[in-house]
Formats: sequence, C-alpha cells, structure tokens
Amino acid sequence: MILVGLTGGIGSGKSTVSAALAARGAVIVDADAVVRDVQQPGSPVLQAMADRFGPEVIAADGSLNRAAVAAVAFADPEALKALNAIVHPAVGAEMNRRVMAELPTDHIVVMDIPLLTENPREGLQGVIVVDVPVETQVQRLVQFRGFDEGDAMARIGKQSTRQARLATAGFVVDNSGDLAALEPQIDALWEWLQTLPQLPPDFTLTK
Ligand code: ADP
Repeated sequence: MILVGLTGGIGSGKSTVSAALAARGAVIVDADAVVRDVQQPGSPVLQAMADRFGPEVIAADGSLNRAAVAAVAFADPEALKALNAIVHPAVGAEMNRRVMAELPTDHIVVMDIPLLTENPREGLQGVIVVDVPVETQVQRLVQFRGFDEGDAMARIGKQSTRQARLATAGFVVDNSGDLAALEPQIDALWEWLQTLPQLPPDFTLTK
C-alpha cells in the first residue's frame, strides 16, 4: 500500500481530483463519507448524540436530524466540543480501519480530508494539495454549489489559509485553470504516486 492525503479548501476541486484518481485505480477513503457512515440509523454515534443532545437529533425514520444537531451544537462552544468528542474519534477509527484493510495490497490509498491542514495526520507518505485562488473558490461555490458570495467567503474564512495548506504539500495540483488544464496534472500526480515506496507489512496508524 501507498498512503497519501488529499486536501484543499472548499470548492477547490478536491472531489474532482479524487474522482480522477479513483478512475485510475486509487482507493479513496473520504472523510465526509465516513462522517455520514458513522451516523447511520442505529449507530452508536447517533445514539451518543441523542444521549447528549436529546432525542430530537434523531428523526422519526431513525436518521440524523442535521438541522436539530446544528441548532444545539452551534449554539455554544461547549456543545460543539461535545459533538466533536463524539464524532471525531469514531470517524478517525473508521478511516484507519478502511486504510489498514488495504495494507496487504499494492493499492494507492488516498485519504480525502477537507480539514487535513487543520488536523494533521501521521503515517501519510505525502499530501496532495488542490490549490486555487480564493476568488476562484468563491466563483465556483456560487456558480456550481448554490452559495451566495457572503456565505462562500465566510466558509473559506473559517478554513486554513492557502499558504498554510501549501506549506504541507508534497504535490500541488493547480486547479485554477479549466478541466482540460487539470488532466495533464492528474497524469503527473499519478506518476508521482507511483514513485512512492510501498509501506512495509508492519506499518500501523497510531492516530
Ligand atoms: P471540493 O470537493 O474541493 O469542495 P469540487 O471538486 O466539488 O470541490 O469542485 C467545486 C465545483 O467546481 C464543482 O462543481 C466542480 O465540478 C467544479 N470544478 C472543479 N474543478 C473545476 C475546473 N478546473 N474548472 C471548472 N469547474 C471546476
């Protein structure tokens, strides 16, 4: 197994790059998908959330009531801390489980983690940073994801700066151009990934 991280600001094109890598055969371990998976109906995480915040965080059909959680958790910093203390360890453990299942293979495993710069991980052989100017992030969030400009700026402002993210990069994908300009960079990225050594059979993830 070869193990790398993939990150970038919201709207930078992480999902686009991750899909292109998956198409070439990479195994993607997607933090956002794992967050959804550990909060499935009947999960211990959902139960712990109901125990802490009240039964209204579970909808009638047993699924997570996102609006109810947002209302309680974003009301005060202590509640948000409590929510993170429930969700984060479960997400981390499940991501590690999915990665470790690939250890006996020669797959390229990409941990797609939006907030990787904010929450660095050990064990990665490199970090791919998808980089665009802030104006491009805003423009794509408005054009393709239905944000208004103020919301887009607010979301971007809560994340790491472009410079902080770039400082962690082993490989930078410049996604400031069009999708055609991205393609040759994906080819170069795929070549770079092949140059990384296979991890040894006794590799472990500690956090
Ligand atoms: P992220 O996962 O980083 O939030 P996405 O991959 O979802 O970002 O990209 C945000 C939006 O911009 C999507 O609608 C995507 O199709 C579009 N997009 C990504 N890269 C480009 C590009 N080079 N040119 C034009 N649109 C792009």
